[in-house]
Amino acid sequence: MRQSPTCRGFGRIKSNPEGLWDAQIQAAINKQVGLELYSAYTCLAMSAHLAEQNFEGFAHWMRLQAQEELAHAMRFHDYVVERGGHVQLPAIDAPPADFGSPLDVFESALAQEKHVTAEIHAIYGMARDKKDYATELHLQWFVTEQVEEENAAGLAVEQLKRAGSDTSVLLMLDHQFGGRAGE
Ligand code: MG
Repeated sequence: MRQSPTCRGFGRIKSNPEGLWDAQIQAAINKQVGLELYSAYTCLAMSAHLAEQNFEGFAHWMRLQAQEELAHAMRFHDYVVERGGHVQLPAIDAPPADFGSPLDVFESALAQEKHVTAEIHAIYGMARDKKDYATELHLQWFVTEQVEEENAAGLAVEQLKRAGSDTSVLLMLDHQFGGRAGE
């Protein structure tokens, strides 16, 4: 008997029976969802910290960054679902509440981005070793994205270093960062 076409191609493999997808890669990607959410959480805390110091523009920039990190987390989450995997969300640590000056904030943000990049590269290497080409392709978007993220945070650090204690330059930068548009 011919199978009805409506029955084909619509089902997603619900659970992840042994062997369908690599457990180590799945665990690493689940962990990455947590790391991206931690980044979002940290950016939100940074935004609040900057707003408290009346740096409205930097606060706005960081709030948008929090949304971007949240979107990254969802992208990893959705990938696990698409692979018929099992989403297992890790605990998320509380971010610090005090980050210092705007320069300190962006230096912390840059360090966090570098950490995220290193983790993405580690999963990429794992996917390559295990010949998981789909995961490699999925991660390529993130590899490119991290170059942009590090560049943006690094540029902010350099500009803030140059501003030093010059209040007028700092306020000009704050105004400039306030012009960041959402994605
Ligand atoms: Mg991210």
